[in-house]
Amino acid sequence: MTLSSSPLDHLLAALERHGQMVRRGGPRGGAVRTARAQCPAHGSRSLTLSLCETAEGAALLHCHAGCAVDGVLAAVGLQPVDLYPARAAQARSASAASIGIGWRGVAAAADQLEDAARNAGDPALAHAARGVVLQARAAMRSERRMHQ
Ligand SMILES: [Zn+2]
Repeated sequence: MTLSSSPLDHLLAALERHGQMVRRGGPRGGAVRTARAQCPAHGSRSLTLSLCETAEGAALLHCHAGCAVDGVLAAVGLQPVDLYPARAAQARSASAASIGIGWRGVAAAADQLEDAARNAGDPALAHAARGVVLQARAAMRSERRMHQ
């Protein structure tokens, strides 16, 4: 990965490297770019992954079959911090505590996208963003338990 590629490009490239079909789309709702892809975590052929890039440059993903975000990321060798540009460099070089910052960033970005999508009249995208918020918060809770 080059430093100039966005988290969404990085994520789509990782999915393709792992043999998943990716369909890139344009702006939608509050998202700068969107994409659909096959989910590497549960292995169906349909494009159940919704992906998008927020105005802040964060990548968000949601599997409509219900896979957890960290499970999807782990299947292609990525971590939550890889979704969030502002924290990525800092978090990659730091300890497990900074992974929590990564999830916080993901939750905050998804929260903003949910508002933007709702304002833009895109309930499907708002629903996907809400799913990401809930999963990021659940991941933060489980990481806190792990590191106590
Ligand atoms: Zn899935």
